[in-house]
Amino acid sequence: MRRFLILLVILLTPIAVFAAMVQADRTFGRPGRGYDYVVTVDLPRPGAAAALPKVLGPPDSSRPLVVIDPGHGGKDPGAGAGELKEKALTLSLAIALRDELLRQGGVRVALTRSDDTYLFLGERPEIARLLGADLYISIHADSTEGEGKALGATVYTLSAKGSNEAAEKIAARENAADVVNGVKIAGQSSDVSTALVDLAQRQSQTQSELFARLILREGLGRMPFKEADPQSAAFAVLKSPDVPSVLFESGYINNETDVARLTSGAGRQNFAEAVARAIRVFFARAAQG
Ligand code: ZN
Repeated sequence: MRRFLILLVILLTPIAVFAAMVQADRTFGRPGRGYDYVVTVDLPRPGAAAALPKVLGPPDSSRPLVVIDPGHGGKDPGAGAGELKEKALTLSLAIALRDELLRQGGVRVALTRSDDTYLFLGERPEIARLLGADLYISIHADSTEGEGKALGATVYTLSAKGSNEAAEKIAARENAADVVNGVKIAGQSSDVSTALVDLAQRQSQTQSELFARLILREGLGRMPFKEADPQSAAFAVLKSPDVPSVLFESGYINNETDVARLTSGAGRQNFAEAVARAIRVFFARAAQG
């Protein structure tokens, strides 16, 4: 019996103390919520970019928004074994296109990166989606490692399964940016419900193909193309469910002719004018319905 009483005291003591604290707070504590201040912390949404890039152009959200993604960056140099790295080339082309679009006016523009920053592959289309982009172009340069001398630009859209083996090889190279020493780095935004993504992607796929064809049309005579038609492959940087998206391989970084063209002011301007025209025609058609 005595042991039972001791046990009871041990069990009830914390409850009694707590009840006394509550009573003391009611009697002596501050009115209202009883706190001097409340600290709230906005936790980032999983997969959301830490800070969204600045949108340039007219301060009018009804104007269409183009998001330009310069491939690679930071610890991921991309293709290129010599002095010239893909990450620098893609940034210079992206800036040329941005400046041309801003010069012509009428559209808003944002870059996924405007310096030598590393971004996860999944972050790139996520930035476009979060900004509410109407169009997205990811700029790259390829290299032919032991596959002979290839020359010219290629325009890609997303497909679940690549249209051909060569396209899949390029996609595999580009998708390797998140793999270091064979280990896949975490941090890619996980997809929303697959069914939803599939549906939205099918709808924007037609628009993506239209944009790809417009780049080929407007680029004719301004730059060489390796393939006369848009190609498709499973590129991670294109997995934006609701934004028409194109991946532009600007040329081959180990082809002297391509490098001379892409690093010259005239070559960059030709690229920027051709793609800017394709963008304007795309939006003009979209406005017509
Ligand atoms: Zn690339």
